[in-house]
Amino acid sequence: MSKKFHIFSNTDDTSNRIVREVIAKMTAIGYEASDTEKDVNLIFCIGGDGALLRLLRRYKFPEAPIVGINTGHLGFFQEITMDGIDEFIELLGKGDYHIQEYIGLNADVYTDEGVKSYLAINEIVIRGEGERLMHLDIKIQDDDIARFSGDGVLICTPAGSTAYNYALGGVIVDPVVDMLQITPMAPVNNVAYRSFTSGIIVPTQTSIEIMPVDNEYKTVVVIQDGRIVESGSVKRVVVRVGEKKAKIVRFSNYDFWKKVKDKIIG
Ligand code: NAP
Ligand code: MN
Repeated sequence: MSKKFHIFSNTDDTSNRIVREVIAKMTAIGYEASDTEKDVNLIFCIGGDGALLRLLRRYKFPEAPIVGINTGHLGFFQEITMDGIDEFIELLGKGDYHIQEYIGLNADVYTDEGVKSYLAINEIVIRGEGERLMHLDIKIQDDDIARFSGDGVLICTPAGSTAYNYALGGVIVDPVVDMLQITPMAPVNNVAYRSFTSGIIVPTQTSIEIMPVDNEYKTVVVIQDGRIVESGSVKRVVVRVGEKKAKIVRFSNYDFWKKVKDKIIG
């Protein structure tokens, strides 16, 4: 039985050109292209980080390992540059690569209509629409930790630590570390309101519950990896580590901190 690959791609001219190149080079080494992400040996993700986030959302963290080819802007997750396809094919043939597993988040969002679940690899954000101060009660496991007042809170994985979290002053975490980070967004501290101002780090088996206060009067927005999935009267959001992991192909010279230097610090 021949080995199979699937391609998930952006649709700009550059990505389309890379799609054709990948199909030609993979079929030349005996792989067969597949229309579905199921039962394949590899999934190519052609685009930037945004494309990887869409892939994971669409296929709900697929079984097969993902090879990212960056045709996007930043491409923090992506392993291969556009001129690195031949080198990849060579390393694939030699088996000279490994698969890095990334934890994701599962958010159960409770509204009047019931509960919906969303998977994220970067982060889940619970915030207001922006014009009003949000008040959120935060529970870690079963302990009421704090009432938070501000724009909202972000809960991220180590993989998501270099994205929105970093812009909010959160810490950068190597994804080999198992933890979740809760990051405050514009916390208010005055005589009327007290909010935590630093990030909170919890072990991966922890459940984090966010309950908007006065949710009948204020729109609560829930964002999964940069996309609004709920906007309305949210009663509570429970975030924990998801059951599935994202599997990403890495070369043996993959180095997270080199990537941070090259792509974030510059
Ligand atoms: P976008 O608006 O096109 O991009 C946000 C930027 O974040 C892009 O440059 C993207 O890379 C990069 N990025 C995504 N995941 C990353 C990661 N894990 N580490 C480092 N950089 C990362 O939207 P998008 O491409 O769909 O990405 C959605 C993400 O944007 C969200 O998950 C959130 O983390 C982030 N975001 C950041 C801010 C902020 O920094 N103030 C605000 C909203 C959302 P590419 O260029 O390769 O796509
Ligand atoms: Mn993007």
